[in-house]
Amino acid sequence: MHRELPQPQPQPQNHHPSASFDSRCEMSHKMTWRNPNYYSAKKGIVKANERNKSNGNRGLQTKVSSVETVESEINSVEKVQPKQCKYWITGNCVLGDKCKDLHSSQCGSGFTVLTKLQGHDKAISGVALPSGCDKLFSAGEDKCIRTWDCNSGQCVGSFHIDDDIGCLINEGPWVFVGLRNSVKAWNFQTQAEFSLNGFVGQVHCLIADNDLLFAGIEDGIILVWKWCSETNTLKPTAMLKGHNGAICSFIIGAKKLYSGSKDHTIRAWDLETLQCVQILSGHTGDVTSLLCWDCYLLSASLDNTIKIWATTESGIIEVVSELKECGFLTLRGIHDVEDKPILLCSCSDNTVRLYDLPSFEERGRIFTRGEAKVVETGVDRLFFIGDATGDMTVCRLQ
Ligand SMILES: [Zn+2]
Repeated sequence: MHRELPQPQPQPQNHHPSASFDSRCEMSHKMTWRNPNYYSAKKGIVKANERNKSNGNRGLQTKVSSVETVESEINSVEKVQPKQCKYWITGNCVLGDKCKDLHSSQCGSGFTVLTKLQGHDKAISGVALPSGCDKLFSAGEDKCIRTWDCNSGQCVGSFHIDDDIGCLINEGPWVFVGLRNSVKAWNFQTQAEFSLNGFVGQVHCLIADNDLLFAGIEDGIILVWKWCSETNTLKPTAMLKGHNGAICSFIIGAKKLYSGSKDHTIRAWDLETLQCVQILSGHTGDVTSLLCWDCYLLSASLDNTIKIWATTESGIIEVVSELKECGFLTLRGIHDVEDKPILLCSCSDNTVRLYDLPSFEERGRIFTRGEAKVVETGVDRLFFIGDATGDMTVCRLQ
């Protein structure tokens, strides 16, 4: 597997899956996105609702409505959505400047599309940029893992995996690949590698935290492994049951693991006891992505909403607000050059939208050839979009 991968880097060896987590330069930002300090919730987002209402529809490309006001907002006029010209894409729009649709692959401001990485010929299923590594890793449904030189943008290595690749993540120096019936782990510093087997089903999502690794399987089960420092590998520890549909998404925050499923629910699991502490119902479609921001949990769904959850004083997590637009696929958080939080959302209409938080005002959007299941953030305000055609777009926030 490592034959065509980059040579070991002259860096301190460390086998712990999350060893370099604490040393990440983006640490403070990561805390903001992953560790909500639940309590005193509601304020920010609800204020945003009030502002949106008082603005009428001026500048409202998005419609954020608290659950209580959903009905009263149904009658409000929606702003015309920017649309990319389909003739321009194929190079033959006869209307030229008179065309009312966009002749561009982006609109809005505050970000730059830097380059496209082309090599995969099927949907991208994961992108990882391990800290301290100058290579970007990408995986696709073409069963190929590619490595890219971050400086030149050239593909410098590729290898075939004879299996369906459901996801690819990194944690510290480790890259984990979710396959059918197994998870492969590879350390880019030491070249150590191992496989986790002994289960049946496609791995759709993975997340690592401290010494635990979680895998979401197509039958709704979450598998848990714990790092064993004696053997330098991961040991099966638990099997979390409860979901009635495939696990699509994970996030860890406030000492809990949250899992989003095709059964339309989110489950909150206590990270110490590994017990389910709450089932979050409300979505009417697959819960495709989860994100923690400030004191909120954000959940994206194919039911055309992003729901914003917060913990009440009684300790129950409930919806405090929602954004209704289109099918949402992936959420990621990033900060701009002024340190303002920006939400990146890929949507089922082949766009990736950038929203300012907490107002949810749209800053712009990037049009992709296919649905972008993968959006990943890197250092220096970089973010990567991987779409269903196999295109990868590299962007930078300003
Ligand atoms: Zn046109």
